[in-house]
Amino acid sequence: MRALYPGSFDPLTLGHLDLIERAARLFDGVVVAVLQNPSKQPAFALDQRLGQIRRATAHLGHVEVGSFDGLTVSYAQQCGTEVILRGLRALSDFEFELQIAHTNNSLAPDVETLFLATATRHSFLSSSVVKEVARFGGNVGHMVPTGVAEDLARLFNREPPQP
Ligand code: ADP
Repeated sequence: MRALYPGSFDPLTLGHLDLIERAARLFDGVVVAVLQNPSKQPAFALDQRLGQIRRATAHLGHVEVGSFDGLTVSYAQQCGTEVILRGLRALSDFEFELQIAHTNNSLAPDVETLFLATATRHSFLSSSVVKEVARFGGNVGHMVPTGVAEDLARLFNREPPQP
């Protein structure tokens, strides 16, 4: 069975990556897909986000990286994925995620939504938190893959992270 993991990934965090690695152990294939959402103004261009995900998942054989606009269920069907995967960090994620899952189920009953609980050590992480810390020069080395930390330093004109 193959799964689609959609998101903004603006930028990719270690929480996202942990979820991708765990999904790669559970599914025969995982498609990580960046949603091009016209109502959001991303900090990183689509190509940058795709590059961040490709570099961070290069060690995972059956992970593909793509992008889409429009309905997630349509893209899931197009990719031949039967499962949409989402991460749950806290109760605050739940209400919104459940609504989206019900909506997607009403549109495409053949596509299931599955939730994976975030790893405890990454449960405080979000792309917004990471950008906020990086903007003010804080260390994000334990929050994002190395390449993303470099991208963040560039974005906010900060010193590149020390190896
Ligand atoms: P979206 O705008 O679609 O919510 P995000 O990039 O913020 O896109 O999140 C994509 C998915 O990754 C969501 O299912 C979200 O709950 C999950 N996620 C976000 N942060 C983490 C984390 N720290 N650990 C595990 N999953 C996460």
